[in-house]
Amino acid sequence: MYKKILVPIDILEDELSQELIAHIEQIAKVGKPEIHFLTVIPNAELFFGIEFAAIPEKFKDSSERTRLAFVALQEMIKDAKIPDEQIICNVGVGNAKDEILEYARHIDADLIAIASHRPNVSSYLLGSTASSIVRHAKMSVLVIR
Ligand code: ADP
Repeated sequence: MYKKILVPIDILEDELSQELIAHIEQIAKVGKPEIHFLTVIPNAELFFGIEFAAIPEKFKDSSERTRLAFVALQEMIKDAKIPDEQIICNVGVGNAKDEILEYARHIDADLIAIASHRPNVSSYLLGSTASSIVRHAKMSVLVIR
């Protein structure tokens, strides 16, 4: 029985995330596990890329983007049929796979549940984030197709 399940959510992919959430609704019924929804946004350096050095300091602060991502994540899971007391939402800032793996270690998750890839990127069996997680996670990974 799982106690802590980490569910990384890409807030830019509504349809894919809803499919993932539908699976989680079923798993969440068994033994009342904590469900940690985590979305990762790029830090300012990743966000602005090579223009980074030229960006005024005030725009390098990620706190407003973090707040907006948190609101978007909550909006995305608001219809999930999972009791509120089981749900924890968080936003990571940085590289998606690194943040997801670090968060999983931090909470000592016993399962990470992800979607295999974006539906329109069909040439891959596993997306880049998904494959890194499958390869590097120390805990079990459930890949939803
Ligand atoms: P693709 O390479 O097709 O975009 P990904 O491997 O990036 O596929 O996405 C697969 C899954 O990885 C997503 O459904 C989600 O669970 C997770 N994921 C991807 N990007 C993020 C992100 N920025 N924050 C949280 N989870 C993410």
